Amino acid sequence: MKIIFFGPQGSGKGTQVELLAKKFNIPAISPGVIYRQEITKKTKLGKIAAKYLNKGELAPSDLTNEIMKNRLKKIDCKKGFILDGYPRDLTQAQCLDKITKIDLAIEIILSNKECLKRFSGRQNCICGTVYHIKFNPPKKKGICDKCGKSLFIREDEGLEAIKKRLQIYSQKTKPLLKEYQERGILIKINGNQSIKEVEKEIGDKLKVYFNNPLKRGK
Ligand SMILES: [Zn+2]
Repeated sequence: MKIIFFGPQGSGKGTQVELLAKKFNIPAISPGVIYRQEITKKTKLGKIAAKYLNKGELAPSDLTNEIMKNRLKKIDCKKGFILDGYPRDLTQAQCLDKITKIDLAIEIILSNKECLKRFSGRQNCICGTVYHIKFNPPKKKGICDKCGKSLFIREDEGLEAIKKRLQIYSQKTKPLLKEYQERGILIKINGNQSIKEVEKEIGDKLKVYFNNPLKRGK
């Protein structure tokens, strides 16, 4: 069960990745989360990554490829994994192809306008959990349900930074989706629904996908 998850910033991708990881009991792996943990720990890697991420830019591909290669070697990835935020472009995808064979790609589709609207109100935790004041609030205001730490708003989630990310997504990631569609391993999900409805659509389509190989990619 090796899955890649795609979706623009604000599409609710992070939440769905988490739900699916729990359901299949496999790790969710995001270079963004790894980088932010390194930044908080003020490691050498964190200092390099901070230069890019705080401006809303992506860390250099070479660095990300190396990090993912090491991460996917770990024992918890044996049963499978869900990738979130990787690969972002064709060169990263080629690198991933050399590391392992992907079974499935899931794309959450949401318009830029809707993404920007949803973005105001996002709160993050250092453990990687993402909340939204309206769509997905924590049980206790400002506190992470999972680890009890204080929530914060990421520096790279200002409006301009997000617009830049959405632009990069259109330019670099969309050609990649086409590639996975041609391989017949892409499932498309309507992101303009509630978290529960998106979760259900993913579950339903996964059942069809794994039961009817001939319908794959449709
Ligand atoms: Zn937390």
